Amino acid sequence: QLSKRLTHVAENLPKGAFFADIGSDHAYLPCYVCLNDPSAQAIAGEVNQGPYTSALKEVKDRGLEDRIDVRLGDGLQVLKENEVHQIVIAGMGGPLIRDILERGKEKLSETERIIAQPNIDAPSVRRWFFQNGYDLVDELILEENGHIYEILVGDRGEPAASYDSSHVEKQLWLGPHLLKKAERAFNTKCKSELEKKEYVLSQVKQATVVNEDKITQLQKEISWLKEVLE
Ligand code: SAM
Repeated sequence: QLSKRLTHVAENLPKGAFFADIGSDHAYLPCYVCLNDPSAQAIAGEVNQGPYTSALKEVKDRGLEDRIDVRLGDGLQVLKENEVHQIVIAGMGGPLIRDILERGKEKLSETERIIAQPNIDAPSVRRWFFQNGYDLVDELILEENGHIYEILVGDRGEPAASYDSSHVEKQLWLGPHLLKKAERAFNTKCKSELEKKEYVLSQVKQATVVNEDKITQLQKEISWLKEVLE
């Protein structure tokens, strides 16, 4: 059974998808998508030998070798130019997802949709979308096994379309759609984030060398979190 997290990722791929799952591990996601949609095709990319071998086995066991190509390599290097229409990068930190996208930019000219599921630091992915011509068309947040996961869906298009020009910084940090939807998991995330930020602020204020910029940034973030929780 596929995790709720990856099921939500799969639901954001169109029918007949031709996508790459970068950092595919066991290739559970491409197998699930291809088993549920006979017109889907995928490339499963893995940089590490162990997960690459697991992905090969999973694809073979499912009889999907003709529709899922498992490739060993770093990030988007496993792709040819203009090869896929969608890219999934899930289960890694936001900065790593951003670096994989940035280092493989030239492979993205035919990529209509990028689905990213950063485990930490989603703002770094939002910023990359914003600076690289991807419109953040939707965001999902869910809780599974005590963790809160965010899923960001970016389509090639006008990157500022989903942002309100007077609140871009706040929306890049918290997510324009997540702010609007105001779901329970988002509130839970903001509550724990507020506790962390308040603790960090108290520590920074006590430091021997006081970092005023850091204090200003933390105070700004704390006020945004309080606005959400009001
Ligand atoms: N995508 C799956 C998921 O969401 O459940 C697996 C996530 S797993 C925690 C992260 C996977 O990404 C690992 O299998 C790791 O080997 C792979 N990985 C890390 N950096 C990578 C890179 N630069 N290129 C390709 N795969 C990478």
